[in-house]
Amino acid sequence: MDSLTLKPAAAGEITPENKCSFCTGSICCTYITEELATPKAKSDFDHLLWQVSHDHISIYKDEDGWFLLVEGKCTHLQADGACGIYDTRPQVCRDYDNDWCEYDEPAEKGFDLYFRNYDELLAYCKRRFKRWGR
Ligand code: SF4
Ligand code: SF4
Repeated sequence: MDSLTLKPAAAGEITPENKCSFCTGSICCTYITEELATPKAKSDFDHLLWQVSHDHISIYKDEDGWFLLVEGKCTHLQADGACGIYDTRPQVCRDYDNDWCEYDEPAEKGFDLYFRNYDELLAYCKRRFKRWGR
């Protein structure tokens, strides 16, 4: 993921109530994730290789499972970082908790596996399957 754009803030002055105002990149509104079925067979990974070959697509695994990560700014994100449909924003946005979010630590720190492109996933496939080649 892209690195955050943060306003400098003195230690101790950030609270969950004001934190988002310091996070000028609004990183949590610049991508979506979609849970994947746990890949097991070669054919599963072959499909993931196709997906990760595309621009703005990466794949990660964390304690909750495997996910497709699609980078792309939400069209409702305003230039000042506000949500343009705040009162009717989707439930997933309402549920997002900023107590510990990407302002505090990059999401990838919690990933067990992270594939940002075809080559990275292919290398994993070759390690995982002794006879990967077709
Ligand atoms: S929830 Fe976290 S990542 Fe999202 S805008 Fe607020 S501080 Fe930034
Ligand atoms: S709908 Fe609003 S809160 Fe949800 S991702 Fe878009 S800008 Fe962010």
